[in-house]
Amino acid sequence: MQIFLSEYPTIGATLRRSRQAKRLSLRISSLDGRITITGPHFVPESTFQDFLDNKAEWILSNHKHIERIIVDDGTSVPVLGKPHLIRTTNMRKISVVDDQILVPRRSSSIGAQVKGFLKSLARDHLAQASDHYAQRLGHSYQGLRLRDTRSRWGSCSSDGHLMYSWRLVMAPRDVLNYVAAHEVAHLVEMNHSKSFWSVVHDIYGDYEQPRDWLRTSGNQLHRYNFIS
Ligand SMILES: [Zn+2]
Repeated sequence: MQIFLSEYPTIGATLRRSRQAKRLSLRISSLDGRITITGPHFVPESTFQDFLDNKAEWILSNHKHIERIIVDDGTSVPVLGKPHLIRTTNMRKISVVDDQILVPRRSSSIGAQVKGFLKSLARDHLAQASDHYAQRLGHSYQGLRLRDTRSRWGSCSSDGHLMYSWRLVMAPRDVLNYVAAHEVAHLVEMNHSKSFWSVVHDIYGDYEQPRDWLRTSGNQLHRYNFIS
């Protein structure tokens, strides 16, 4: 039988009971992305469900065949890496309260409003991070642009203009900061040489973790479709 992630109901898992199983285990097929939870016969279905939900974050970052998410009332969208539930309200301005994004009921679509909100939040955070690392580096940049690029998370032109994907605001804060440090480091090293990486290390610190996160989970940020 199939059970589904409570927060991401488009993602299902096959529940399998086995005489050999002593505890619950979950695997994602590397061939087709199919998720299977195996457990002993005596374990109730609700325990399987809890087990699946507890693994949501891990599943999302490891699942290769994930469907697009249409952003709307009731959708969960990460803000700086933390899931936020979208709710419509009678308030006049979009706001974040605890782990919810409260969106006014208006004629413009919820997705469009959330996208606009995330973009301006992205600009704030990326400008702040770029300023911070540029100051550490002792170089200034010429300007900052946001785009929705699939191929790269950021770039730095030879005349000192920084470009970032606004979707980075959905990534954990460390990841956003790392991309800013990376692009700022290109102000002095327009390559990916050893000396470039030592500049990144000087201004940011250990960058392996956020770099790995982008490689393994970065694609997740492109699943969200804001045209609703
Ligand atoms: Zn680079």
